[in-house]
Amino acid sequence: MIPGLERAEFIRWGSVHRNTFINSPRLLLDSLQFRRNPRLFFAGQVTGVEGYMESTAMGLLAGINAYRLASGIPAVVPPPTTAMGALVHYIVHTQAAPFQPMNINFGLFPPVRGGGRKRRQLQATRALEDLKRWKEEVLQQ
Ligand SMILES: Cc1cc2nc3c(=O)[nH]c(=O)nc-3n(C[C@H](O)[C@H](O)[C@H](O)COP(=O)(O)OP(=O)(O)OC[C@H]3O[C@@H](n4cnc5c(N)ncnc54)[C@H](O)[C@@H]3O)c2cc1C
Repeated sequence: MIPGLERAEFIRWGSVHRNTFINSPRLLLDSLQFRRNPRLFFAGQVTGVEGYMESTAMGLLAGINAYRLASGIPAVVPPPTTAMGALVHYIVHTQAAPFQPMNINFGLFPPVRGGGRKRRQLQATRALEDLKRWKEEVLQQ
């Protein structure tokens, strides 16, 4: 059915993949620290996110907070109105059972008032503004 692949031979069919992940709502703080031992951080897909960007974002946050812990400054969490913050909020505050991995999607963002068809545009604009403000605050600390 795909142009150019009319004569392709399929050696092996693809298959659904399975993620290995922890129960973050029970085990993690918003900073991605392990509740029972805050010197331990979880990063990437194992936190219960799915995808390249999502895993990288959770690695970035864990890295920032590991640095801050080592430097004796408080951990930071991005606002829930940003993609990174919305994901962290989901993995830490959703129901622990049954907990399933999540991709980033607009359903994770807090709603905006009105907007109609432009609702997502408003959510994206708010996210960029809040991320900019958050970055400035974090860099000052
Ligand atoms: C078939 C498939 C297709 C995918 N397609 C997409 C896609 O199109 N787009 C997308 O966004 N995402 C896709 N994903 C998901 C994406 O690949 C993952 O979400 C992402 O790579 C996870 O990154 P990570 O660094 O958190 O974990 P991983 O990439 O899984 O890295 C974990 C690393 O830890 C190592 N490790 C494990 N245990 C130990 C140990 N005990 N000691 C030392 N090292 C250890 C592993 O070998 C591995 O290198 C796909 C995944 C699969 C399986």
